[in-house]
Amino acid sequence: MGQVSSVSDCLDSSTARFQQVSLEKDTTGGNGVTSVEPWAQEMPKVILCTLVVGALQTNCYLVGCERTRQAMIIDPGADPEKIMDAVNRLGVEVRQIVLTHSHFDHVLAVEPVRSMTGAVVAIHEREAEHLTHPPTLFRFFDPDISRGLAADQFLHDQDVLSVGDLKARVIHTPGHSPGGVSLYMASEGVVFCGDSLFRDGMGRTDFPGSSRHLLVRSIRMRLFALPDETIVYPGHGPHTTIGRERRHNPWVGTPEE
Ligand SMILES: [Zn+2]
Ligand SMILES: [Zn+2]
Repeated sequence: MGQVSSVSDCLDSSTARFQQVSLEKDTTGGNGVTSVEPWAQEMPKVILCTLVVGALQTNCYLVGCERTRQAMIIDPGADPEKIMDAVNRLGVEVRQIVLTHSHFDHVLAVEPVRSMTGAVVAIHEREAEHLTHPPTLFRFFDPDISRGLAADQFLHDQDVLSVGDLKARVIHTPGHSPGGVSLYMASEGVVFCGDSLFRDGMGRTDFPGSSRHLLVRSIRMRLFALPDETIVYPGHGPHTTIGRERRHNPWVGTPEE
């Protein structure tokens, strides 16, 4: 298990810039146990900042390598000033903008953040068309976005993204949308899963291109295959663990005897 630093609210916190996240072990059914194994000191340290942005309270994650100060932004869904303020306060160089999927609440700040950082925008290839030709609904939220966005890089299942010393593996988790992806950082024991899996919930499947069957399959076959102690950072709401959701999620959980 790697060492994860967290800035839960970097905008209002000037003194405690870094805070150790407790690495929850859910196997005993309850209290999170903070444990940093001795060998974890050898692992690259992670900067992890959660920014809640926009009308739908989307979780935008800034994930960086503490040694190199290189970072990626996952789902810049709105509020580019807030995101850039965090980038500047943390003093990181944003190399990549990774989109878990193309719904408007995850992409509205892509263009300003891309132009201010020079970062490369990546999305799964099956999501690219929806990003380039968004539905008219987008116009309601941002007239500029209705022109569409172009990604710079297309992701595929099992691709590995590097940022500084950190590595994130792409897991294709379709269902909420055709090209939805999760990003798994095995050394750090964290997965960013967009709108696939939530604490006690799962993503909506009533959109064009959604499939409930596929989403359940993605969660059970791919996400629940990760170690139980993996911390899940979803697109909305609080983080959780794979073990907790596998046992207790009322929609997709598979309780054991
Ligand atoms: Zn969505
Ligand atoms: Zn969303």
